[in-house]
Amino acid sequence: MSGDALIVIGAGIVGAACAERASAEGFAVTLVESGTVGGGATAAAMGHLVAMDDDPAELALSHYSLDLWNALADLPQAQFSRCGTLWVAAEERELAGIPAKLDRLVAAGIQAEAVDATALYQLEPMLAPGLAGGMLVPHEAVVYGPAVAMHLADCAQSRGARLLRGRARRLTRGGVELEDGQILRGTVLVATGCALPELLPDLPMRARKGHLAITQRHPGLLHHQTLELGYADSAHGSDASSVAFNVQPRPTGQILIGSSREFDDTMDPAVSMPMLRRMLERSFRYMPALRGLDALRVWTGFRPTSIDGRPYIGRVPGMDDVWVAAGHEGLGITTALGTAQLLADQWMQRPSAIDSTPFDPARLAATAAA
Ligand SMILES: Cc1cc2nc3c(=O)[nH]c(=O)nc-3n(C[C@H](O)[C@H](O)[C@H](O)COP(=O)(O)OP(=O)(O)OC[C@H]3O[C@@H](n4cnc5c(N)ncnc54)[C@H](O)[C@@H]3O)c2cc1C
Repeated sequence: MSGDALIVIGAGIVGAACAERASAEGFAVTLVESGTVGGGATAAAMGHLVAMDDDPAELALSHYSLDLWNALADLPQAQFSRCGTLWVAAEERELAGIPAKLDRLVAAGIQAEAVDATALYQLEPMLAPGLAGGMLVPHEAVVYGPAVAMHLADCAQSRGARLLRGRARRLTRGGVELEDGQILRGTVLVATGCALPELLPDLPMRARKGHLAITQRHPGLLHHQTLELGYADSAHGSDASSVAFNVQPRPTGQILIGSSREFDDTMDPAVSMPMLRRMLERSFRYMPALRGLDALRVWTGFRPTSIDGRPYIGRVPGMDDVWVAAGHEGLGITTALGTAQLLADQWMQRPSAIDSTPFDPARLAATAAA
């Protein structure tokens, strides 16, 4: 397919990463974006680069992507900071789950270690007293996702890709029609995040709202991306709404406080005061010093959530020359680079470093037939 026309619809971090990879492979890329590059879910995210271990396929994709992120570690605008991830166990029951987590991470080749309560407070002295211990994943990092999306789109453009401001209205035979009536011809990759069903209604997608708050500068208060072990339950559970303690030291000394989750297909961006209060109270429970800081800004965003929580990456079943990369929920900053590489491998018909079948959108057809 190298040399062919590829139309990438959506320039969030996923579409921008795919445009970058495709242009590197020699495709004639047109990147279509209706808003701002990196302005969707990508702009709302925390930017924590993290390996989640509760689904083997997601673990493989996040680990693979973390390796690819190393190539961008020195990019100034990425604000890459290798602060590590500190998972906190509030009580003995959570502590008891750590050996199994460690086994999964270490088996995947990720360095991680258990920390007892003494070590926990050495790592993060401002944590509330009485916590049981935790687990440190020292090489994980945080980045500023929207700036990386812009960088990836710029890389693609420097190789001849075209960035077209406009909205894709519908897929046509052999291309796409934009809202202004323009028809673009070529292979199509739909990377429109939560808006996926507008173009591909057979691929279910839900919007999962999240709140975040950022504080005034307070260098030295927090050193690691620090989150409760229950975060994975919040992220992968199907509860209508949940909150989890999840805080991040920004390179500026500010502290980014998350996180909440609730399904909201209306995509109303308004801040919900009860949800914000619930989220902040959770963080004060784990780190009481946060209560004394001023929040400078509070915002919401929407995580594109597929039917089974895994992203759709691959050819759209039953359609010629239409591909999809969407539905990365709360891991899309982490996994954008791996996603783009998996697609590039499929387009170039070469084997990938990890198994891409768990992300094949055709799994839905199999589910429907069962
Ligand atoms: C509160 C919150 C915290 C998060 N924290 C993290 C984190 O710490 N770590 C992590 O890895 N991930 C995190 N995420 C998840 C991450 O932000 C998303 O998974 C990721 O940004 C999805 O990227 P995307 O490119 O698929 O979607 P988007 O960034 O939404 O991009 C889709 C783009 O498509 C465009 N578009 C839509 N329809 C059309 C159309 N018809 N024509 C043209 N353009 C169109 C939109 O304008 C948009 O720019 C978080 C998300 C939220 C909301």
